[in-house]
Amino acid sequence: MATSDFDRHPLTFGPSPVHPLRRLTEHLGGAQVWAKREDVSSGLAYGGNKTRKLEYIVPDVLASGADTLVSIGGFQSNHTRQVAAVAAHLGLGCRLVQEKWVDWDDVGNDRVGNILLSRIMGADVRLDPAGFDIGIRTSWQDAIDEVTAAGGTPYAIPAGASEHHLGGLGFANWAHEVAAQEHELGVFFDTVVVCTVTGSTHAGMIAGFAELEDAGGRPRRVIGIDASATIDKTRAQVARIARHTASLIGLQRELRDDEITVLEGWAGDLYGIPVESTVEAIRLSGRLEAMIIDPVYEGKSMAGLVDLVTSGEIPRDSTVLYAHLGGQPALNAYPGIFGD
Ligand SMILES: *Cc1c(COP(=O)(O)O)cnc(C)c1O
Repeated sequence: MATSDFDRHPLTFGPSPVHPLRRLTEHLGGAQVWAKREDVSSGLAYGGNKTRKLEYIVPDVLASGADTLVSIGGFQSNHTRQVAAVAAHLGLGCRLVQEKWVDWDDVGNDRVGNILLSRIMGADVRLDPAGFDIGIRTSWQDAIDEVTAAGGTPYAIPAGASEHHLGGLGFANWAHEVAAQEHELGVFFDTVVVCTVTGSTHAGMIAGFAELEDAGGRPRRVIGIDASATIDKTRAQVARIARHTASLIGLQRELRDDEITVLEGWAGDLYGIPVESTVEAIRLSGRLEAMIIDPVYEGKSMAGLVDLVTSGEIPRDSTVLYAHLGGQPALNAYPGIFGD
């Protein structure tokens, strides 16, 4: 099977827009920087990267006969908000476990932004005091069991939809979408920069671009910027999901280690806590491009891009695609960063 052979339930308006970031490019004085915008490509509650993953999971949900989606994330999880949106869209119930992944004291961290949107969309939102972990949790299993005990039929979607056997397909397809857009625009992105935490976004891209390369496409670098601050877990998870997805889509070879690049240096010490470079990147992107990014994910990957381009680690003759994966609703939970 190739990526194009898998069932996809469209949840976006079409291909996400690709455009140059002219003022940012000029400011950095290095490589040409473009963005591909998952934040503006779906009508379901602001969309984002989890919506792309769910396009390939929904056919399995519908085939299973489930009536309730069950998922897990932090209080300000973009993923659980997108699961709530898809449940509303499909007419299914939604049970969400929202853990205290981030120790952040701004007023309303458990009430505004993503969690507010999930409540508006009718999800059964329950708070849990557990801390950050990208792995499989007992609280999630308990929620699944509760739905069953109440007579429902749950469909379980893990954190970030990553540890799901179809979780990498959305971004394998994204790679093909990029190739089609390059053809239309007459441009080639030799470098892709993407934020990575639970791993299947980056992993899917790696598998999809490897598929394109094996079909005669030019090689390129896909650079994951860690925002988990648990680099070993994220690196291992990206590698595992990339290899699984590659075999799922019928890649005829093993992925090479140099195809799996997760860089650290911009996450700070803790998931969900912005550091100085995060806040600077958010301001830079806002002031130069009116492109809004968040303090948990995209602010960290943009900080990475800024440094890699400025230092020449990404060479001046490169054309870089920044994957904007969404996530702006969480900004509302961090008003204190930007002063009174
Ligand atoms: C979930 C998320 C990521 C990280 O994607 P993973 O597939 O979990 O690695 C990055 N940015 C945003 C906005 C997200 O919501």
